[in-house]
Amino acid sequence: MSTEEVQKQTHGFQTEAKQMLQLMIHSLYSNKEIFLRELISNASDAADKLRFQGLADGALFENDPELKITIEFNKEANTLSISDNGIGMNEAEVISHLGTIAKSGTSEFLSSLTGDQKSDSQLIGQFGVGFYSSFIVADKVDVETRKAGQAADQGVRWSSTGEADFSIEPIEKTNRGTTVILHLKKEESEFADGNRIRHVVKKYSDHIALPIEMLEEVFGEPEEGEEPKEPGFETVNTATALWARSKTEIEDTEYCEFYKHVSHDFEDPLTWSHNKVEGKLDYTSLLYVPSRAPFDMWNREAPRGLKLYVQKVFIMDEAEQFLPLYLRFVKGIVDSNDLSLNVSREILQQDPAIESMRNALVKRVLDMLSRVAKKDPELYLKFWNEFGQVLKEGPAEDFTNREKIAKLFRFASTETGNETQDQSLDAYIERMQPGQDKIYYTCADTFKAGLNNPHMEIFRKKGIEVFILYDRIDDWLVSQLSDYDGKSFQDIARGELDLGDIDKEEDEKDSKERNETFKSLLEQVQETLKDQVSEVRTTNRLTDSPACLVVGDDDMGLQMQKIMEAAGQAMPTNNPIMELNTEHPLIQKLNDESDSDRFNDLASIVFNQAQLAQGIQLEDPSSYVHRLNSLLMEMFK
Ligand code: ADP
Repeated sequence: MSTEEVQKQTHGFQTEAKQMLQLMIHSLYSNKEIFLRELISNASDAADKLRFQGLADGALFENDPELKITIEFNKEANTLSISDNGIGMNEAEVISHLGTIAKSGTSEFLSSLTGDQKSDSQLIGQFGVGFYSSFIVADKVDVETRKAGQAADQGVRWSSTGEADFSIEPIEKTNRGTTVILHLKKEESEFADGNRIRHVVKKYSDHIALPIEMLEEVFGEPEEGEEPKEPGFETVNTATALWARSKTEIEDTEYCEFYKHVSHDFEDPLTWSHNKVEGKLDYTSLLYVPSRAPFDMWNREAPRGLKLYVQKVFIMDEAEQFLPLYLRFVKGIVDSNDLSLNVSREILQQDPAIESMRNALVKRVLDMLSRVAKKDPELYLKFWNEFGQVLKEGPAEDFTNREKIAKLFRFASTETGNETQDQSLDAYIERMQPGQDKIYYTCADTFKAGLNNPHMEIFRKKGIEVFILYDRIDDWLVSQLSDYDGKSFQDIARGELDLGDIDKEEDEKDSKERNETFKSLLEQVQETLKDQVSEVRTTNRLTDSPACLVVGDDDMGLQMQKIMEAAGQAMPTNNPIMELNTEHPLIQKLNDESDSDRFNDLASIVFNQAQLAQGIQLEDPSSYVHRLNSLLMEMFK
């Protein structure tokens, strides 16, 4: 056995990597040319990393400071290779980077895909496509790489047919960096062609700031007596940093391709904003809002943040300091002319200039979103459906901008009567009734539960609009936001009903009289339910239901209580107030009831029904059923 064979090792792909690889090959087939974009994107990242590390250790450049990407092909052998002289990889890195997927949540994501979704390129693309896309067009891939700064004999060759395993062996590699050699499938020989490759590079990778070089094409035979012309290398892309170019000369498609490079996203972005700032601070930002939420948006550890450049030199990925958590969906770059090239994450955290950049960038994002909301409400709703819940973290995290953020909120409303969250606070305020001074809302588990909540009855009768909030975060959101444009939020199931000046005097007079008339009923019900309710009073909230429950002004909302309980945090809560609709025949029956057992049963049933109507689980459902059944039985006697 030769030494080479001894040194060749075979490794199995990590299960997730294997699955992802297979899915990718099948679902992206109709987009197969994107493999080149992905490999060029990786090569460009590798060059960025070398340039950055070379700032501290110039020896890494190995006297070859001209960073570039080279593409070569061989028609006879049906191969295509993409080389870079970037940072390269050592053996351990090759095994881990090209054999595993390190993103947390990968296996959950994969196992959540149904049969149909498995062929959905958008879903796979949402995950980030990357190196494995090579196998869409190749039936064997070799990666030859050597880490910058290491000796020539430290090279590694990774080789795989993209099935179960890959092999690793040491090689001699004099020039640093990585070459990916694709052994193209027979039917993909179109990619071993200069014109085809040039076209794909132009289409997807023109924005790459490094030169992408290919051999010149030499056409025709040399003239008699002339030496055959040796083709040299030529640059086939524009090769300047996209964001440094003037806005007016950048095509939308270029912005989109650049987005895919920085975000590893597969779809076009929803919108973007490109700005140069000069003056006290000097920087350029290019910020994007994706079209679709990433699979790990709710993983708070998931990487987020912008790519930071200083004077066009890449410094770091995921610089989180430039945007708050509630804007974690924003992708893009910021290129500063003020920061020092050896800036670190720690320095970023303390630098006051970063604070002002952050404030300005937040403003940019909010302005960009309100522009979309104004110009293209339909597109804005797409954004809201994907990212609305993240934006709702805003008012708590960013007090200064809370009104601006709230302006971007959209809720479902009784105005439209359907569960689409498409109504803004401004539109609500415009529709407010004369004398109305509050923004009314109800929190429920579902839209339907909110719409049919007994508390809605009076609002329906008087034609007052109510927002129906049914996202989990909503109860918490309104507790953080509390008011907007000088109008406070009012939970319709909380405190005394206060409709501002709408029919005020009439309502107050009625309610006083009622409480007097039904004084003894109220006291009796209170006595029966003394362990379950804190107070019993008559209501002016109801038209059709016999009773409803109300929480005190300072008590935790019912939805919030449920969330806390689900999270295992039982909070001491005050009993609710029960309000009785004295117009309702059932309450009148209760008022006339002389048998104390029947009174107690009926009072309990009314209470339990009020709970059910508000989506509260009964503490003792079988007693409720029992009581109700005995009443029903009496009916049939
Ligand atoms: P991603 O680029 O989204 O991280 P990939 O599967 O494309 O995922 O690549 C995985 C990792 O392999 C990269 O993060 C990088 O560390 C490494 N890698 C890929 N291509 C190269 C390259 N040309 N030079 C150096 N490292 C590379």
